[in-house]
Amino acid sequence: MPGQNPVFIPGPTNIPDRLRRAMNVQTADHRSPGFAALLGPLLIDLKTVFKTASGQVFLFPASGTGGWEAAIANTLSPGDKVLAARYGTFSDRWIELCRRHGMDVEAIECDWGTGAPAERFGARLDADRRREIKAVLVTHNETATGVRSDVAAVRRAMDVCGHPAMLFADCVSSLASMDFRMDEWGVDVAVTGSQKGFMLATGMAIVGVSRKALEAAGTAGCARSFFDFGEMAAANAAGGFPYTPPLQLMHGLRKSLDMLFEEGLDNVFARHRRVAEGVRQAVHAWGLDLCARSPDLYSDTVSAIRVPEGFDAEALTDHIRETYAVSFGVGLGPLAGKVFRIGHLGAMTDVMALSGIAAVEMAMADLGYPVETGSGIRAAQEYYRRTARPALRAAA
Ligand SMILES: *Cc1c(COP(=O)(O)O)cnc(C)c1O
Repeated sequence: MPGQNPVFIPGPTNIPDRLRRAMNVQTADHRSPGFAALLGPLLIDLKTVFKTASGQVFLFPASGTGGWEAAIANTLSPGDKVLAARYGTFSDRWIELCRRHGMDVEAIECDWGTGAPAERFGARLDADRRREIKAVLVTHNETATGVRSDVAAVRRAMDVCGHPAMLFADCVSSLASMDFRMDEWGVDVAVTGSQKGFMLATGMAIVGVSRKALEAAGTAGCARSFFDFGEMAAANAAGGFPYTPPLQLMHGLRKSLDMLFEEGLDNVFARHRRVAEGVRQAVHAWGLDLCARSPDLYSDTVSAIRVPEGFDAEALTDHIRETYAVSFGVGLGPLAGKVFRIGHLGAMTDVMALSGIAAVEMAMADLGYPVETGSGIRAAQEYYRRTARPALRAAA
C-alpha cells in the first residue's frame, strides 16, 4: 500500500485527513463577503499562534523562502548591514538571499550543531557604535542540525547594549509545534510556511510583522511588488487580497488553527517535546550521537543523528525508502552522508514515531550497523509508557 506510511522528513509534514478534506473546496469568488469572512478571523487567530498582540500577520502565496524575501525586501535597503550567524543550511540560505538583495551581511561562523551565538551577537552589536547594523537574523529551529536557538537570549543581548536593529526570526520548522513568542522576544519579522507545523500542503508563506517593521517598510529601498507589505495590508483591511489568494490553503489553515486550539497550544508543544524525547532515548540507546551539541539545544521538531564512522547516512535513508517505503531527511551541505534526520513536527504521535524508529532499526540491521536491534524501540516504548497520560492520548 504505497503512500500509507507516515513521512519522517522534516517538512513537508504529514497532512491529517481532516486537513486534506478541508482543502478540498471548489473555487469561490475572492471578492465576495464570504472571502472576507474567511480571511479576517484567520489573520486574528494567527496572531495567537505567533504570540503577538501588537503585530500583524500576512499570508503570501509562496513557500517559506518567499517569506524570507518578503521580510528583507520590505524592511531594508540595498547596502544595509545585516548581522547573521551560519550554523546550518537554512541560516546559510537566508544569508545568501540577503546578499542577492544587495545587503552587506556579516556572518558569524558557528559550529554546525550549535545555535545562535547570543554573546557574540551582543559583542558585535555593542562594537557597532555608529549603529549601522539594521537587522539581526536568527533561525529559531535549524532544520539541518536539529538545533533550537534561544531567541530571547539574542533579544537580551540586543537590549543590553541598547541596539536599535530589527530582529528577524525564521520559525519555519518551529511555529505551531514549538513555543515561539514574537512579542515577548521582540521579534520584528517572523517567517513560516504552511507545510510544516500547520500540517498543510506547501504554498503559503505566513509572516508575522511588528509595528516597527511595518514602519521600516515606509523607508525601505529594496524593490518589491508581489511581496509588498503595504499593498497586502491595505487589501486585507478591505477584506481582500491584492491578487488571487490561495483559497484552498486558507480553508485548510482555518481547520488547522481549529485543531491547534482544540488541542491547546501548550499541549501541542508538550506532545512534540514528548515525541522528540522518545526519539532521543532511542538514539542514545543505539549508542549514536545527535548533531545538536547539548540538551539545551535539542529541537523538538527534528532530530539530526550522526551515523557511525565508516557508514554513509545517505545509503541508510535510500535503503529505508527502497526497502520499507519510509522517507527520512538526509544530511544537508557539509553534513551530507554524515547525518540523517528524523522529522517529528506537525501531525506526529508517539505511535507514529515508534514506526519510524523501528524502520530505522531494521535498515541499520540490514546494513550491518553496530547497533542492537530492538534497543532503540525498547527505550522509546519505555519512555512513552512512562509518560503516557490520558489527556495526551485523547489529543493524539
Ligand atoms: C523548510 C525550511 C525553510 C524553507 O522553507 P520552504 O517552504 O521550503 O521555502 C526555511 N527555513 C527552515 C528552518 C526550514 O525548515
